[in-house]
Amino acid sequence: MTIPPPAEIGQPLADVETPALIVDLDAFERNLARMADGARAAGLALRPHAKTHKSARIAGRQIALGAVGVCCQKVGEAEAMVAGGVADVLVSNQIVGARKLRRLAALARRARIGVCVDDAGNVADLDAAAAEAGATLGVLVEIDVGAGRCGVAPGEAALRLADRVATAAHLHFEGLQAYHGRAQHIRSFAERRDAIRRAAGLAAATRDLLRRHGIDCLRITGAGTGSWHFEAESGVYTELQCGSYVFMDADYARNLAEDGRAAPEFEQSLYVLATVMSRPTAERAVLDAGLKALSVDSGLPLLVDTPEADYVGASDEHGTLRLNRPSNRLRLGDKVRLIPGHCDPTVNLYDWYVGARGGRVETVWPVDARGAVT
Ligand SMILES: *Cc1c(COP(=O)(O)O)cnc(C)c1O
Repeated sequence: MTIPPPAEIGQPLADVETPALIVDLDAFERNLARMADGARAAGLALRPHAKTHKSARIAGRQIALGAVGVCCQKVGEAEAMVAGGVADVLVSNQIVGARKLRRLAALARRARIGVCVDDAGNVADLDAAAAEAGATLGVLVEIDVGAGRCGVAPGEAALRLADRVATAAHLHFEGLQAYHGRAQHIRSFAERRDAIRRAAGLAAATRDLLRRHGIDCLRITGAGTGSWHFEAESGVYTELQCGSYVFMDADYARNLAEDGRAAPEFEQSLYVLATVMSRPTAERAVLDAGLKALSVDSGLPLLVDTPEADYVGASDEHGTLRLNRPSNRLRLGDKVRLIPGHCDPTVNLYDWYVGARGGRVETVWPVDARGAVT
């Protein structure tokens, strides 16, 4: 079964079926340009993370503005990007399992594909899969620069692994993956900056150790929306992987700038449009957008244009609003805009983006890699 788009081009936004994922195209385009200009001014390559948008069209627009390619987190996302015309994909993650490795190696015959490693056995498996496919895979050694997720320790462990990659016949050693995920949402500017300064120091020391052993890092890649200025000013990183900047979310909006204010550099461009489906009491309204329309792992969604109400609870298909000023302003059938707490997993709940400008539907785009978790 294919899910039809919830809107027709030219329709007023008010007529869109809900819940729907809305992109404010003006804000979205300003975000794309701002990040592209920022990377260019800093002299760094931009490889935006497609796990945020899962859309080959959005990837194409990022590349048209100067991005060198995209990052993906899963082979399925990479397959969707390559099918949609993206020629250069870094899977910024570890890929484990024979079937996945076969898919990854097959993709490397159609596009430039890179992947991250943090295990010598995985390096051998990747080499065998690439050999069998008659392809070459680019490989980055992932170092743990403080995130406490994947990655070998910086220094000697990374050297040993890089040496394995460099001597594998069907792999090409490209450099270091040094992404500090946990730093992205550190609220304090100074603490965020210090976390990335430490990460950059570890990456630089590892790079220099490899060089002393005759292994050159062609690139050192990392950074996200919350920290990219610090990677850019480090002089160590050569490539930025920011993803959320295209849409932003309520969680990112809580990061603080240097002056201590929450003043996000990028604009909120992603919304969930929802409909009031019940008004059981004077203090309560219920929306048709709950856990299956919004991810709440980083906090509940925020209402825009509706200051008299708060989104206070989500169940499968219901979102409960508390009306702070009991009023009849919100009526059955009214539509409200919500800012998701966390953009990436929210996008993954939808088949379509509804692109809007000036209150009208301008375009609908498929979320190509929706559900591509393998
Ligand atoms: C999620 C992720 C990013 C992008 O981070 P944002 O905060 O969405 O900008 C970059 N690199 C890796 C490896 C990631 O997992």
